[in-house]
Amino acid sequence: MEQTLAIIKPDAFSQRLAGKIIDLILEAGLRIAAVKVVHLTRRQAEGFYHVHAGKFFFGGLVDFMTEGPVMVMVLESDNAITRWRELMGVTDPAKADAGTIRRRFGSSVERNAAHGSDHPETAAFEIHYFFNDLEIVRANP
Ligand code: ATP
Ligand code: MG
Repeated sequence: MEQTLAIIKPDAFSQRLAGKIIDLILEAGLRIAAVKVVHLTRRQAEGFYHVHAGKFFFGGLVDFMTEGPVMVMVLESDNAITRWRELMGVTDPAKADAGTIRRRFGSSVERNAAHGSDHPETAAFEIHYFFNDLEIVRANP
């Protein structure tokens, strides 16, 4: 059993796409172990995306991630990290497979509708960035 962090980014959340995206998550066999809606401060967005600090797109990414509320979720299943990233599609919506969330709902490489952890260690950091243990449903064995 594996857990991953998912974010419905400000572009998708403001377009009221959260319900459609949650349907896709549940239909793919992922379970929701935690959920909240937050409007990130710049400091919080910078901390979350610290691995990208210094890259040319970092300032724009922080502008985007703080422009409105996001929905943050812990998702759980076998291979949850890969399963959620496959459901999202690749970073650039124009290159993402048909039917993926980024292809359907993203509008540019930056405004790409969703986030997913990319590795078990990043997932652990990202999940605990937003949730404490009491807020996460205990993984089913
Ligand atoms: P995420 O971490 O959000 O799930 P990802 O793992 O597919 O996305 P990363 O390389 O980690 O992609 O980039 C993090 C985010 O930074 C992207 O989702 C996107 O919003 C933004 N980003 C990445 N590359 C670019 C770029 N070349 N130009 C503009 N924004 C970018
Ligand atoms: Mg990433």
